[in-house]
Amino acid sequence: MSETAAVVAWVEDDPEVVGDAAELAERLGGEVWAATAAAAPDALAAAGAARVLLLDGAGAEVGAAALAGLPAPRVFLVAGTPAGNDLAPRLAGRLGATCLLDCARVLAAGEGPAADLVVERWAYDDRAQERWLVPAGAPAVVALRPGSRGAPRPRPRPAEVVRLESPAGPRARRRRRLPADPGSVRLAEAERIVAAGLGIGSRDLLPVVAELARLLGAAVGASRPLADRGWVPFERQIGTTGQQVSPRLYLAIGISGATQHLGGLRAAETVVAVNTDPACPMMARATLAAVGDASQVVPALVRCLRERRGDR
Ligand SMILES: Cc1cc2nc3c(=O)[nH]c(=O)nc-3n(C[C@H](O)[C@H](O)[C@H](O)COP(=O)(O)OP(=O)(O)OC[C@H]3O[C@@H](n4cnc5c(N)ncnc54)[C@H](O)[C@@H]3O)c2cc1C
Repeated sequence: MSETAAVVAWVEDDPEVVGDAAELAERLGGEVWAATAAAAPDALAAAGAARVLLLDGAGAEVGAAALAGLPAPRVFLVAGTPAGNDLAPRLAGRLGATCLLDCARVLAAGEGPAADLVVERWAYDDRAQERWLVPAGAPAVVALRPGSRGAPRPRPRPAEVVRLESPAGPRARRRRRLPADPGSVRLAEAERIVAAGLGIGSRDLLPVVAELARLLGAAVGASRPLADRGWVPFERQIGTTGQQVSPRLYLAIGISGATQHLGGLRAAETVVAVNTDPACPMMARATLAAVGDASQVVPALVRCLRERRGDR
């Protein structure tokens, strides 16, 4: 049994990331150690771990402290679950290491422990992958998106099981949870969306639409022509070539409801449409439809909501 590992894998429950670690360790030359608070040691040994490090399960801060005390491996691979994504930057912070989240895979650019690492990471809403070079000698913590590579190839071996003590208590404590800012939350996660289409006439109405969204605690979305014109950033576009959304409330202002737009909001619960054309497809999709001119309806809604809140 070696006194250090080439790769340490942090596993929440699924041993998938141990497979990545084993492939990388074969190229770098060295062992894989797997750290876990919950996974079965047998499953980790079957995936190629030479040593299983049992953490005490007390959360990201304590786990990071325990892993940071290990004799430095070439790289830590972390299963990019919410808990893993919590742990990875804490561990990297303690080590002064490069930290890359939401990655697709890690390759060795050569053979042996001095090989550089090439990390492939998802970008542009998964439409592209970027490649990061981590030079030999630089410690790295890489979180790999779970569920994308499948069960690891069997590499059964006897594994030493060791309980890993955390040298110190948590450095950080959660005091309160801040709610997400609806204005900047990813559209896919938004509970309410106010979306604008070409029926708003000009970009001059966009600040009023944004104010309406703010008053409703909603995120701003748009149809494609607004993104094409550069009135809103592309990540605000909803539809088959934009974001798929599932809000509880979708307020569509001046959007006709083309198939490609409606394709992005199949999972929306309540759809409210404001449009001058009562026969357009968005009105048919809507739970509540208001026939009217956006340039009058949107400011009127803003006034009404402000009055209700007691704003001037
Ligand atoms: C391959 C492909 C992919 C596409 N992907 C997407 C996509 O992801 N998302 C997307 O949105 N589109 C997409 N499109 C474009 C789509 O086909 C439509 O052209 C687009 O959705 C129309 O946007 P709109 O409803 O804002 O504009 P329009 O279709 O022009 O509709 C404007 C609406 O505003 C109403 N209106 C006009 N004046 C007023 C007023 N004063 N007040 C209120 N209402 C008014 C009109 O009655 C009309 O219903 C795609 C197209 C293709 C070919």
